[in-house]
Amino acid sequence: MPHVNLTTIQPVELLEALKSHQFLAPYHLTFCCDQDGGMPRYKSRFTVCGSPHQYHFCTHSCMLALEDAVGRAVAGNRPVVFQCSVGLLNFAVPLRAGDIPFTCLIGGGVRDKSIDLARMESLAAADGMDAFALLAEIEELPVATVEEVEEVARKVQELVPSLLARNLHSQIFEKTMQRLTAISGISTGIDTAESVCDLMTLISETLGVLFDISKIAVLIPQNGPTSPYTVKGIWGLQRDLGTISGPKALGMFPRDRAGSVVLQEDECRSIFPDLEVSHATCLRLTSGQAVHGILVLFDASIPPREELLVSLVTGKAATQLARMREKDKYTSEIAQARELLTMFSALSRTESKDQLNEQILGMAADLVDATCGSLMFIDESGSQLKIESALGMNLHLAQSMVVQVGTGIAGKVAASGNPLLVNDIEKDRRVGTPNRPRFKTKSFVSIPIKLREDTIGVLNLSDKKNQGIFTDADLKILITFTDHASIMIERALSIERADILEQLSITDHLTGLYNRRFLKRRMEEELARSIRHNLNLTVMLIDLDHFKIYNDLCGHLAGDRALKRTAKILSETARQMDVVTRFGGEEFCIILPGTSKKESIFVAERIRREIEGEDFPHEDNLPLGRLTASIGIASFPEDGSTEASLVKAADVALYRAKSDGRNRVIIAGNSVDDHEQISRFKTALNLP
Ligand code: GH3
Ligand code: MG
Ligand code: MG
Repeated sequence: MPHVNLTTIQPVELLEALKSHQFLAPYHLTFCCDQDGGMPRYKSRFTVCGSPHQYHFCTHSCMLALEDAVGRAVAGNRPVVFQCSVGLLNFAVPLRAGDIPFTCLIGGGVRDKSIDLARMESLAAADGMDAFALLAEIEELPVATVEEVEEVARKVQELVPSLLARNLHSQIFEKTMQRLTAISGISTGIDTAESVCDLMTLISETLGVLFDISKIAVLIPQNGPTSPYTVKGIWGLQRDLGTISGPKALGMFPRDRAGSVVLQEDECRSIFPDLEVSHATCLRLTSGQAVHGILVLFDASIPPREELLVSLVTGKAATQLARMREKDKYTSEIAQARELLTMFSALSRTESKDQLNEQILGMAADLVDATCGSLMFIDESGSQLKIESALGMNLHLAQSMVVQVGTGIAGKVAASGNPLLVNDIEKDRRVGTPNRPRFKTKSFVSIPIKLREDTIGVLNLSDKKNQGIFTDADLKILITFTDHASIMIERALSIERADILEQLSITDHLTGLYNRRFLKRRMEEELARSIRHNLNLTVMLIDLDHFKIYNDLCGHLAGDRALKRTAKILSETARQMDVVTRFGGEEFCIILPGTSKKESIFVAERIRREIEGEDFPHEDNLPLGRLTASIGIASFPEDGSTEASLVKAADVALYRAKSDGRNRVIIAGNSVDDHEQISRFKTALNLP
């Protein structure tokens, strides 16, 4: 008999090849081996005598008959036919083949024509069985004579060497080729699988069918190779098989071993306690250094010859898993970027600081599914943190809590400027806080809010939904978010500062003249002085004519330049003691302390003429052909004794100047005398 190398030919394959021969069809075949020279052991993939009730009526004497037959067959190197106690016929054919661990091929499952009914009955009674059921079963078996069985045994002895020599190898080769064809057939399916589930179903169907495996599971890392692995039954098992830890999953593979690993029964029990399996073959789904999953084939061994084929499938599956992961990562990054953009644009529309703080805290919490949190800022002293916005707790209560920079969790983050991610506050040595009754979960994040290099506050988030733990990915997105949010905080702070400055400022930023706020204050002071010292005081309101048209014709910037030039003319034309202000828009107001109405006419006319004489670009297109001003004048004590009444009177006069045709000075009150005086004044001054 030729040397049989069992690393290339499996006993099962030899049996399959034998079974494909018609004359062996009625027979059940099995191998028996003689281990360590002791009693023969039986590879019980097939029952020996073929009855499904072998264990019910096979007796010790059956085994003795078998052992005796095997012994004779091996010793004589010839086939031996033997009959068991119920009359079933079996044969033992010796196998002499190099390192083959089996001494004999046993065939059985046929019966002698006659059945010893009395013997059957006593056997059934001894085993507490129904004699009729037993008889019915035995009657079912094919009938053969001893000679026929001897002939079959002889043929088998002839056949085995030739099978091993040629047929078996070519059959095995053919089978391998079939498997290869099947695998290359699903290769497009693997490349185009849309989901992990689809991919795994395809892989498991392929391996399950090709290698006759009944139970397959896949372990997929939840978040990186050392994270917990989700165990999914994908072939012949229930779908949800729980999770196992990363180290336990990776621990199945010894460091120095590439390729598959076979787990024995006790190892299987410790890793998959809920599964009743005898052994398992584990295959890593890797691309490059990354482990994307682990495939576990239960109660199955892959012949070394087929490992290459299997690794083709697992390699392809791993590449596709890696592709899916990349795609998922990309898709979720895009979605996250979109979410961030929407948030930033909402933040950029918010100007109020309080509202902004509230939005920042709410959005940050949404990003990482936190239900509790606070936004703290360092106060002016630089030594304390104060809560400006709170989530999941009472704001007033929160605001009463003061944290010292450098102490407590937020205080330390503020002092160091480094973010802190804690999975379990009770175990983390960096914080070491034994209990925190205010919080539901033990995981939290604290992120410094920085303006350039300076830490100005701290964002704290805790109590992730569903008792979750904050991850590195959460920390990353929060850092990106706070980086941008801090720009909005800076903007809100500068708006707030500008408002305060505006409140405090007394000058108009466009013209550099005093502003209305200052005018009011100053007028009250001057009026009080005038009342005290019995002095006159005049108020002059100057309004540019058709300035809207000028703006429309020349643009707002040119309008601004005209306002600046007007302001310059006013400052230069007014007397030193006069207070020139921008009243608003294209209106100006001048206080002339100690000046009577009549005296002011001179100043007003000079101003009107200066403006009229100034060359403003494109003014020839205006209705009056020039940029001009109308002026209303009112004086203390005649027209009023308060700031409001005097301005009101000057405004009425100004209105009249407009309605009378613009580019003119009108004095409050309607006294003919006044008008006469003005006319005389004008004549004396040679004014129109
Ligand atoms: P009237 O002769 O009746 O005073 O006509 P008017 O067009 O000057 O008056 P109206 O009040 O209708 O328009 C005032 C215009 O002044 C409208 C506004 O665009 C312009 N204005 C107000 N403030 C500024 C400013 O700071 N810069 C510029 N460029 N224009 C201003
Ligand atoms: Mg006006
Ligand atoms: Mg005007």
